[in-house]
Amino acid sequence: MHGAQLDAIEREADARRHLLSPAEEMAKLGEESRPLLAYGEGIYVVDTRGRRLIDGPAGMWCTQVGYARQEIADAIAAQAMKLSYNSPWYTTNSPAAELAARIAEMTPGDLNRIFFTTGGSTAVDSALRFTEFYNNVLGRPDKKRIIVRKDGYHGSTNLTAACSGRAGNWPNFDIEQDRIVFISSPNMRLADGKSETEFLDHLVAEFQQTLEELGADTVAAFLAEPLLASGGVIIPPKGYHARIKALCEQHDIVYISDEVVTAFGRCGEWFASEKMFGVVPDIITFAKGVTSGYVPLGGLAISEKLLARVSGENAKGSYFTNGYTYTGHPVSCAAALANIAIMEKSNLLDHVRAMSEHFAAGLRSLADLPLVADVRSNGLVGCVECLADKTHVVADDFDRKIGARIDAICFDLGLIVRPIGHMCVLSPPLIITREEIDRMISILRQGILQAA
Ligand code: PLP
Repeated sequence: MHGAQLDAIEREADARRHLLSPAEEMAKLGEESRPLLAYGEGIYVVDTRGRRLIDGPAGMWCTQVGYARQEIADAIAAQAMKLSYNSPWYTTNSPAAELAARIAEMTPGDLNRIFFTTGGSTAVDSALRFTEFYNNVLGRPDKKRIIVRKDGYHGSTNLTAACSGRAGNWPNFDIEQDRIVFISSPNMRLADGKSETEFLDHLVAEFQQTLEELGADTVAAFLAEPLLASGGVIIPPKGYHARIKALCEQHDIVYISDEVVTAFGRCGEWFASEKMFGVVPDIITFAKGVTSGYVPLGGLAISEKLLARVSGENAKGSYFTNGYTYTGHPVSCAAALANIAIMEKSNLLDHVRAMSEHFAAGLRSLADLPLVADVRSNGLVGCVECLADKTHVVADDFDRKIGARIDAICFDLGLIVRPIGHMCVLSPPLIITREEIDRMISILRQGILQAA
């Protein structure tokens, strides 16, 4: 073994000894080794053992423009030398101001006021805190409940984890659930034979009934991803968001669209809410793709209409106190501006739109394979749902291990899948070409066939 290999093995041992991962199987603490990545280029990552892999999930749905983009690295270095930090509590900085103005141009409607956070969880948490503040200033202390969906995912702070409707996120945490109300996942596979229109009516009726049961004057917010990403790329029936938004408007409920995954090109638009899903929300949260994952950044855009009700003469002397040491961090904002410049210069949104049908066709070509119970996609995010018995609708414990089997096989063939239980979710870097999509689908095909 040569020096580089020995070094890699030593680093892996250090990682097992000292790192705690975000999903640690405690019975195996220190035993499981994860691939140690050495570098990335374009849509590929290379591990310390020299294995070159297509980054199927784009890291965690974030590496939009791919790895090793000189322009972003230069922007980060230049800003770090110019002004590496400023306190957002009593100063601001040019990249943050410029980025806020750029994002305000991209958001739909009057969502023109931007608050920056450190990532997606803190963006959603801040949106919920704003909603709390809003109702308190408006003198409605009882309007505090948050309606969310089963299968949704909104983050890893205490409150955003509690809002996440994937039961796997909860065990062994004492999460206060009183304020949080779950309604059905808008998953057509759970439509029980209903047509899309019938299922939509059913979901809207359920929302209406929930409001009646709770009392709409106790409901502060509806929090929803445009498509439920971590839930398995669940795309709601057409018209779903607009119908729910109309009810929110009727009952003065803040509609929060969690675009942490869908914003910055994933669905072929800067923001997906309006153009892809027909709704202008009151608040939009974003993160991930805003910097293509080069440095952490998240944020939220709030509508002028909402702000007008609790500012100026209506503020009643109140402060909205919610902030982080790294709110509007100059280096993160400079990285985001460079990332957006690359996306614009390369017409990346057009590219995503052009690739999306080819990607969808590739996924559809897997539908006849053994194990594949459903495929679905939007833009460059898709899911292949695998079940041992295709006639089943819901996965059992056996099914939930299928994804890991497929992932292990694909890894050896040169593709990271990052399964979510029985679901193989692909959301590659947006720069992926037609040929690279074919290669990705071809490896996934082999992985599924060998796992079957
Ligand atoms: N919201 C959605 C829809 C997400 O998918 C995620 C993360 O995957 C988050 C929020 C949390 O973002 P972060 O991990 O950056 O805190």
